[in-house]
Amino acid sequence: MDEDINKVIDKLENGELSISKIGSIIKNSNLAALIRRLFLERRYGVKLSAISSTLLDFEDIVGHNIENPIGAVQIPLGVAGPLKINGGYVKGEYYIPMATTEGALVAGVNRGAKLLTLAGGVRTKVIYDGMSRAPLVWTPGVNDAVKLSKWIRTHVDDIKEIVNKDSRHTSLSDIQVFIVGNLVWFRFVFKTGDAMGMNMATIASDRICSYINKNYSGEHRCISVSGNLCVDKKPSYLNKILGRGKYVISEALIKDELLKKIMRTSANEMDYINKTKNLLGNAVSGSLSYNAHFANIVAAIFAATGQDLAQVVESSMGYVWTEVRSEALYISVTLTSLEIGTVGGGTWLPTQREALSLLGIYGGGDPAGINSLKFAEIIASAVLAGELNLLAVQSSGELAKAHEKLGRSHKSGGKQDGGI
Ligand code: NAP
Repeated sequence: MDEDINKVIDKLENGELSISKIGSIIKNSNLAALIRRLFLERRYGVKLSAISSTLLDFEDIVGHNIENPIGAVQIPLGVAGPLKINGGYVKGEYYIPMATTEGALVAGVNRGAKLLTLAGGVRTKVIYDGMSRAPLVWTPGVNDAVKLSKWIRTHVDDIKEIVNKDSRHTSLSDIQVFIVGNLVWFRFVFKTGDAMGMNMATIASDRICSYINKNYSGEHRCISVSGNLCVDKKPSYLNKILGRGKYVISEALIKDELLKKIMRTSANEMDYINKTKNLLGNAVSGSLSYNAHFANIVAAIFAATGQDLAQVVESSMGYVWTEVRSEALYISVTLTSLEIGTVGGGTWLPTQREALSLLGIYGGGDPAGINSLKFAEIIASAVLAGELNLLAVQSSGELAKAHEKLGRSHKSGGKQDGGI
């Protein structure tokens, strides 16, 4: 066997075989992963023993979540909480799983959670839910573009039927039409149950394009199933205005005395730092996202629970709004395009699945869709905790101190970047 493995590695070295072809020769994904690793170790004179150490069974995963596997990386996992949440879908106290290498992040969310829980908890609500895909269609001119978009409007029932036929959990909820010159974008919006829904929306949009090609007699050409008005994995105003995934808001009212006791700041100071830093600062810089560090919390929860990490881009877009109300601070966070799922993607992998189970939301909900709505409320509440803490440490001048204490680099590396 060892001899066979050495022969395959020799072939990889002399270019007779590529790393992507090993799987089809070896027929065992775990052994193929070992061979790729041994080849890389030999070629670059490095040891990949830490990367090799994983409980993942690649026999299950290849073909769903990874190609050319060689092992796994591990990210430390912490919890912040308890965080008391009164939502439309969740009620109770939660410990939030966060996978990160940024020292001080979990501690910061933990501190915010403590304050929010003492203040009576977070109120939260999902006010929109829809996953979009926007195929781009060419027509000869503006009259044709308008004619096609009118035709689509008169065939909505057929289109809904086509979508429903293919999937138990995908249904069409809206068609948003954009015309530029002779080009038309149909931004199809779907309900996708508990799944984030990007594969489901793409498959459904592809079926709709085929339906248009077959049934619309006017001159046209479907150029791409994704015309970038979806908008996936890119920052955009469109998602902020129309929403994508979940549009969710979390808010709290915190008495001045509690802010002073836990955070050594006041409602006035918090309101001032929010408006100058989060609102004016982001406006001056041209940033699309009017917050201090939604991305920190979103990324750590995404990594812990098997979400698509590239979607942190739009999932961390949003606003912080504050008001001073008779010796109390009103604070809200609005996440306009939080793209999440409790089924599909990486949610079923062993550690990610356990992290979702810790929140009581792994898998399909009853009714379908409720687990992902609960998840949205939990994430937005954790984001509120993180934002509250960071604004407080900045208003009280304690930011550098916290990072010096908890976020300095281990002896082997450089100093960490907080990205806040
Ligand atoms: P998926 O894993 O492709 O599909 C989820 C499947 O779960 C559906 O086919 C659905 O089938 C089934 N399902 C069972 N119970 C469900 C429930 N309660 N709610 C919803 N669905 C349920 O997941 P996805 O969310 O559509 O796609 C996520 C993946 O897409 C991620 O891996 C992400 O990285 C990737 N992605 C793809 C694109 C793309 O353009 N294709 C872009 C970005 C990301 P039924 O409806 O038949 O039951």
